[in-house]
Amino acid sequence: MKAVKSIFSAASKTIKDARLFADKEEVLRRQKICGPCPHNDGKKCTECGCIIDVKLAFHGASCNLHKWDVREILTNADYL
Ligand code: SF4
Repeated sequence: MKAVKSIFSAASKTIKDARLFADKEEVLRRQKICGPCPHNDGKKCTECGCIIDVKLAFHGASCNLHKWDVREILTNADYL
């Protein structure tokens, strides 16, 4: 259920931002954070239950523990 809520939240933020996927640079940044995270079981995030590679790809996704967050992207010049 947690995973469904998390993906639904990411999808609704994505629709609001009119962007489906995060750019390559952002995905790499997220991978660097998720990689060593103790909640990464090698495939899924044990915090939200999402498949990490899928979650990282969505522009509107965010870490439930705020280790990375869409709000960080919103401060980029693209959105100012
Ligand atoms: S989404 Fe957050 S809690 Fe989950 S593995 Fe990545 S950094 Fe860790």
